[in-house]
Amino acid sequence: MSIFEDVRALAESGPVCDACLGRAFADRSFGLTNAERGKSLRIAAALDADEPYEAVETEDCWVCEGACAHFDEWAARCAAAIEDVEVETYQVGTRAPPLVEENEILLREGAGLPDDAGELFKSEFNREVGKRVGRLTGTEVDFTRPDVQFLLDIEADTIEAQINSAFIYGRYRKLERDIPQTEWPCRECDGSGYQGKEPCDYCGGSGYLYEDSVEGFVAPVVMDVMDGVDAKFHGAGREDVDALMLGTGRPFVVEIMEPRRRNVDVEQLEGDINAMADGEIEVEGLRLATYDMVERVKKLDASKQYRAAVEFDADVTDEALQAALDELTGVTVEQYTPHRVDHRRASITRTRHVYDATGELEDARHGTVEIHGEGGLYIKELISGDEGRTNPSLAGILDTGAVVTALDVIAVEGEDEPFEDDEFFKN
Ligand SMILES: [Zn+2]
Ligand SMILES: [Zn+2]
Repeated sequence: MSIFEDVRALAESGPVCDACLGRAFADRSFGLTNAERGKSLRIAAALDADEPYEAVETEDCWVCEGACAHFDEWAARCAAAIEDVEVETYQVGTRAPPLVEENEILLREGAGLPDDAGELFKSEFNREVGKRVGRLTGTEVDFTRPDVQFLLDIEADTIEAQINSAFIYGRYRKLERDIPQTEWPCRECDGSGYQGKEPCDYCGGSGYLYEDSVEGFVAPVVMDVMDGVDAKFHGAGREDVDALMLGTGRPFVVEIMEPRRRNVDVEQLEGDINAMADGEIEVEGLRLATYDMVERVKKLDASKQYRAAVEFDADVTDEALQAALDELTGVTVEQYTPHRVDHRRASITRTRHVYDATGELEDARHGTVEIHGEGGLYIKELISGDEGRTNPSLAGILDTGAVVTALDVIAVEGEDEPFEDDEFFKN
């Protein structure tokens, strides 16, 4: 059969609009809308048969029931739905009425064409409404992770605009002890601050075990400036609550749910957070990040550098300390899960590398030790030996008790590549 015979067979089924007609031939020729394709084919078929040309009003179409006449209205509704929301990219999805989907098959079957000839109603809708949304709002289509995802339900006559999260990357320093990384709800009152009608004794009614947290200093400020509905803090690991995080700081990402602002001034944001934290924590290097940065921050293998204040049970000479640290440098340590670690975690022996160990004595019983080690190395246990569960250890080599009295993290860096890869940033 020639294409004109196909066109005539389709048109004989009843009034079929240009778009629905052209859609059955959507895989032929580029640079045309289906409506242009349909109209041209209808004209060409009339010329071919030397018959009068009869136009079909889209509203009269039995296949789409007139839906193809309303791309502009749907696009205008999408644009209105995000009027006060800052987005750069979008995607349109369409839920086609089941009846229209059935009609499309009936149309093709009736003309002896394959059920899936051309393209689907919803594909055309996504594209035609999408193009118009892009023009109206000055935004770009993105099929992977758009800032806003529209769902058009044609039958229900509704639009849903789902605003995807925005992400801010940075590094934080924790300059005071006893600040957890994330908010730590009180376990006695489940974070409510109440036991029955009385304020919770355990947390003093605050609902939190610690008044401050890195998350608590950072996330609300970002959420406020991005005008979102919720925030999540993702850290590249975490230090102990009583450890400081110094040096170059620890990478983190703050995720803001349903933000109305995305292109925020990160330098001003940095200043706002640091002013709010008032020296308890500090952030730096804030940048607008992509969705993929969350996983990078959580999964990228990172080495850690620590500074530990150590107290010895017996007098130690500088010579002995230097020899012990030389012995630890480059060694592979076996660590059985420490006692202090979460008891829900399975107890296993794991091996971790010590890249470098240096240090100096303050007096015969006190010193400072710096360890650069593979991620997951337990430093307190590397010093104390954890009653024989960690081997080798500084205490074991020196043959005297040794305990960490203060622990600071001074660097968290990717083992093989830096966290800060331009591919994961938007600015
Ligand atoms: Zn139609
Ligand atoms: Zn409580």
